[in-house]
Amino acid sequence: MIRAILQIGNPALRQVADPVDVSQIQSDEIQALIDDLIETMRDANGAGLASTQIAVHKRICVIEVKKNPRYPYKPDIPLTVLINPKVTFLTEDRINVFEGCLSVPNMRGKVDRCPEIQIEGYDREGNNVSFISKGISAGTFQHELDHLDGLIYTDRMADSSSLTTIEEFAEHYEDGFKQQVISIVDLYGS
Ligand code: ZN
Repeated sequence: MIRAILQIGNPALRQVADPVDVSQIQSDEIQALIDDLIETMRDANGAGLASTQIAVHKRICVIEVKKNPRYPYKPDIPLTVLINPKVTFLTEDRINVFEGCLSVPNMRGKVDRCPEIQIEGYDREGNNVSFISKGISAGTFQHELDHLDGLIYTDRMADSSSLTTIEEFAEHYEDGFKQQVISIVDLYGS
């Protein structure tokens, strides 16, 4: 079922989500929630969606990038379901990259992200997962995990002057950003 996506200003986006009881991952309730997150993300052409964004305060998010029309420059990420995810930064490096969010319609802004991270958590079968993500994709994971802590990318903007509508982004920044993404992929491999 496609759910309504909360928009910035809704206090529910600021709530810290609760961990999921691992013994409940296979329950109909959690499995249906995961299906709804995937369906809603795909319907909105999102690169990811956290359950916080549909007003369910459980630590679950989904990520998928497949030739995304909202983010044509993003490297692909296969569908990933993360439950109780934790992130560890593996480098002191930071990349300063434009992000957008389904909860902040029609906007982009630049955020510092760690370009090499380890993610640990559970998948939708309840199996432990642990993997490394790099570059732009690492930023996508950090963005979704932030939602589970009640954070929105605009909170992370060191310089709010980079905030732009999508139309102004396309006109003034998109070409330069594509070049930056190519350099990041060269440097970090994703
Ligand atoms: Zn978001």
